[in-house]
Amino acid sequence: MIKENLLKIKETLPESVTLVAVSKTKPVSDLQEAYDAGQRVFGENHALEMRDKHEALPQDIQWHFIGHLQTNKIKYIIPFVTLIHSIDSANLLEAVNKEAKKHDRVVDCLLQFHIAQEETKFGLDMEEARQLLDSEAFKQMQNIRICGVMGMATFTDDEAEVRKEFKHLKEIFDTLKADYFADQPQFKELSMGMSEDYPIAVEEGATLVRVGSKIFGARNYNI
Ligand SMILES: *Cc1c(COP(=O)(O)O)cnc(C)c1O
Repeated sequence: MIKENLLKIKETLPESVTLVAVSKTKPVSDLQEAYDAGQRVFGENHALEMRDKHEALPQDIQWHFIGHLQTNKIKYIIPFVTLIHSIDSANLLEAVNKEAKKHDRVVDCLLQFHIAQEETKFGLDMEEARQLLDSEAFKQMQNIRICGVMGMATFTDDEAEVRKEFKHLKEIFDTLKADYFADQPQFKELSMGMSEDYPIAVEEGATLVRVGSKIFGARNYNI
């Protein structure tokens, strides 16, 4: 079913939106099936799992890291990661920069914002983001590139609430673009939308949607 699911989702997405196939917890054989159906962008949220899958699968896959990243795990993904969606502190960004420098890479990153009502979700608020972007430390970081923002909406059936949160993230994107990245074309990504809410996210301007269970089926965290 993976191929059918992928094709169905792709049909509904505008050309300008990139589908990140979120393959966390799924076996390499599932990713290979998606790859054979033409999928090249995969999202994972555990560093070691992503490293192992990277080693096992074709080298032209683009690996997006979408989960909370612990600083002691950065080293496992820096050699090959395409985009880190989940920069949620100045310390993490600094640590990514340091590791990227060792590998002589410039690593693309998104700033993750807290837009949901739930308290548990990671992310910056506007004040923290401004502090980071205004800091002298940030200006010295030569081995990272900020390419946009990411957020997760509240897990709810209330479509109006979800839409409101995506609109909020789009406003954050527009504000940061105007205030910090007006002359930087790489700042263009708005990562929002998952299996249950990606159509709304696309309507609200998403450029990257992160879809897992709609492609690979429900996850089983007990195995
Ligand atoms: C798991 C996950 C997704 C995908 O979730 P689905 O509901 O399975 O589509 C998207 N984004 C993040 C950050 C995730 O952790």
